[in-house]
Formats: sequence, C-alpha cells, structure tokens
Amino acid sequence: MTKQPHPEVGYFGRLDVEKRRKIAMQKHAKMAEVELERLKKTHYMHCAGCGWELETMIYQGIPIHKCFHCGGAFLEEEAIEKFLGKDTKFIESIIELFRF
Ligand SMILES: [Zn+2]
Repeated sequence: MTKQPHPEVGYFGRLDVEKRRKIAMQKHAKMAEVELERLKKTHYMHCAGCGWELETMIYQGIPIHKCFHCGGAFLEEEAIEKFLGKDTKFIESIIELFRF
C-alpha cells in the first residue's frame, strides 16, 4: 500500500514544481534570446549561399544585398513587395545589372 503525502506537502510540492517549471521556462527563453543574438552576429549581412559578406546597393530606391563572391542576392520583404509592383522590364534590368 502506498503512503499518501500529507495534504499540505502535496500543495507545497505542487507550488515548488510550478516555481521550478517557471524558472526552467525563463532559462529556455533567455537561451533562445542568446542563441538568436549569436546567430545574428554570425550571419547578419552574410550570403546564405556561400557566407561571403553582402554589400547593399540601392537600385531605384530599393535596397538589394548582393554577394560579389557567388552572385547571390538577398531582398528584404519590403523590397520584394516593391519589385512585385514594377513591370517585368524593371526586373530584367536588375538581373542585367548584377550579371557577372
Ligand atoms: Zn555568396
């Protein structure tokens, strides 16, 4: 036969578990922040394809992050929306501008 804990022990035990769970969740959130910051320091403004440092060029008011190592280009969401509003000749002119 298993011995039941005293009702107060059970209550305080649950409080202790809940307190420890909250501390663990806070640690997890803090680690996520630290990891995100580490990733940003490592990869910010570096090419997703080869890791080379990106250079920002402004073309008709739209920033384009360009890799002069592999030829890749990165567009932020706002830039993509601006591109979508342009005609196809505009996009062709950008492709021609960055062609090796
Ligand atoms: Zn690259």
